[in-house]
Order: sequence, then C-alpha cells, then structure tokens
Amino acid sequence: MPSPLPEVPARTVVREDMRPSACVSAAQNDCHAREVVSAAVRSVVDHLEPPLSSLIRRGDRVLVKANMGCSGFRNPEDRVTSHPAYLEAIIECLLDCGARVTFGDDVARTAQYQRIWHKTGMSEVAKRTGARLADFVQAGGREVRGFLQFPKTYLITNLVFDADVIVNAANCRSLSKVVLSGAIKNMFGAMLGLRKLRIHQLFFDPSEFARVIVDIHRVVKPSVSFLDLTTVIEGQGVADAIRPVGLILGSTDAVALDTLAAHAIGYDRLTIWTSIHGNAVGLGSNQIDRISVRGLKWNSFEKKRLLYPEPEPSYRESLTDQVTRRLNNTILRPRPVIASQTCTACGACASRCPVGAIRRSPHEKFSIDLDQCPDCGC
Ligand code: SF4
Repeated sequence: MPSPLPEVPARTVVREDMRPSACVSAAQNDCHAREVVSAAVRSVVDHLEPPLSSLIRRGDRVLVKANMGCSGFRNPEDRVTSHPAYLEAIIECLLDCGARVTFGDDVARTAQYQRIWHKTGMSEVAKRTGARLADFVQAGGREVRGFLQFPKTYLITNLVFDADVIVNAANCRSLSKVVLSGAIKNMFGAMLGLRKLRIHQLFFDPSEFARVIVDIHRVVKPSVSFLDLTTVIEGQGVADAIRPVGLILGSTDAVALDTLAAHAIGYDRLTIWTSIHGNAVGLGSNQIDRISVRGLKWNSFEKKRLLYPEPEPSYRESLTDQVTRRLNNTILRPRPVIASQTCTACGACASRCPVGAIRRSPHEKFSIDLDQCPDCGC
C-alpha cells in the first residue's frame, strides 16, 4: 500500500482562463535498448508542439542538461541517472536539426568526473554522437539573480550562458523531498557544487524548497524538456524498487510534463509543490484537463500505481533553531581553507575553481580570495 503522504488539491494563483492549454508529446517505450528508445524519442519529437525544428536553428549551440546523479558513481540500470540510450536519442534528434550539442551535469563533487562519465555511459554517448561532453564546474560559473527575495542569486554554470538553447533531458523517480523528481527538478543541477546542499539545509519545508527549485528552473529556462519514465524508482525511502511504466514524454511546458508523469505513476493525488509553484508563477500548467497529449491515446495508456516515497518528517523548530540554522548556512557558514601542511602545490584545486578564486601566491603555495569565493565547495 502507498505510504500516507498528504493529499492536497493543487492550488493556482494565476487565473486559469488566462492560460493557453499545454501540449505534451508522449510515446510508449518498454526498454532501454538503443534502437527502441531511439524510435520512441523520435516519435516524441515528431509530435512536439511547437516542432523541434522551430526551437533550434542550424548552427545553434545547444546545451543538454542530463542527470548524472549527485553522489558516487551511477550505473544506468540503477535508474537514478538519465539513461545513456535516451540521451543519445535526444542528441541525435538535435544533431538532425543542425545543432552543435554540448551535454553534461555537475558531477564534480567527487573530483573524478571522467570516471562518472564512464560509469553513467556518457563517454560512450559522446563517442557515438560526436557531441561534446562537458563538466559544469570546469566551465566556470557566475552568480545570477533569481526572482525570489531569498536566495537572491544562484551560482550557475557558464555553459548555460554560452548556449543558444537549453534542452532538459530529465529522468523521473520518486524522491521524498519533492515527491516526484522530474523535469522541473532536473535543472537544479545547473547550480554548482555544494550550493545545492545549502539550499537543502536552508529550506527544510518541502513547499519552500520547491519554490527555490522552480526559481532556478525559471533562471535557466530550458526551451524544451524530455522526461524518461521507461522504468521508474518507486517508494524512495520506504521500499525502493524499479518498476516499468513504459513512457517517454516531451514538451516545452515542464510543469505539464511533471503533471502528466504524476498521473502516469499514480502520484496525481499527492501534493507536488514543484508543479504547484511552477503553475503559480506561470511556468506551465498543472491542470490535467488543460493538457493535451499528442502521439499517444492517453486514456488507453495503462496508468501505474507506484508506491509513494517516504513522507518528509515535519520539523517543529524553535525560533532559536530556525535562526541558528539560517545563520549557520549564511553569515556563519564554513569557508574553504588551504591545508598548507598537506598541500603539494599540484594546482588541481586552482584549475577546478569555477570562479578562479584560488591563486598561487609568492609567499604561500596557494591562497583563496574569500571575497571572490561563492562557496561552491568543488
Ligand atoms: S575557492 Fe570557493 S569557489 Fe573556488 S572551488 Fe573552493 S569553494 Fe569553490
């Protein structure tokens, strides 16, 4: 039986009658064999509205944001990361439009990104397609103003600003903090390093956390999103298991994509704050009756009833704890230091610092300009 997550009807803030209907393209897909996924993704692309060829012009620099997991090395069959066959199929469609494709994710916290590329199957995708595989940290990053009062800025990889078009290649799974990790959540990874962890620590409340996720999605602005539900991890934190769902989706409306995904896996009665806030700020529609599905008879598609993720514990923090937590993650946050006793002066940290805040100095081996350091922790 699904775990008892709160079931609250979705709220809307913007008047619905002001909104156009959303369109999601869908194709059935039962396995990750390359030729099978390729056919499914092509069908999704063929039914996209507006068509992909109108979003991407010949010669455009396109950045594809994959999901390569956030800790350790990930096997594609674990279904935590974007499957390489799915990514390859998306890249092939982009190349057909004449795009110059770069793809990647922020995997630099382990400082072994090439191993992660190999383990997640991304090196092979780069080899087969000729697309450039890039490390989000090595490309550098910059602070970008969001739409919220707090946090005001995000440290976003430069690859986002170097691209003409962003494509979101998301993977769907159950995840306690957001219930459904889908198209909206995937762009969170455009923010560099431990800044993501700080957002987790600053925003315990799932609604507030989702508000920030949506804000980052608005900042990065993918032109089109894809979502893979061929198989999906259910019951995160309760009884994680990989279940067949048999679906790949695509749309210019990431909120509609996640909303349809929630219906496909039986999460439609749960409160999915990313979709609620996404709808509220005008990012897209979370009203199922305003979403039209192309390429697949939606009513005939057999919806699944996956196990719900573990509910987030409700925190009753005292005012003192709230203030302390806020201070510990802002003014009193830990800052990076050079361990001069053990530093070998290899320069690896300086070459990977995304903002060039680590420099060789005449008196010390290396030093960090803390005024310039945005605490990425990379
Ligand atoms: S010095 Fe600051 S910005 Fe540079 S890598 Fe270290 S934590 Fe990141």
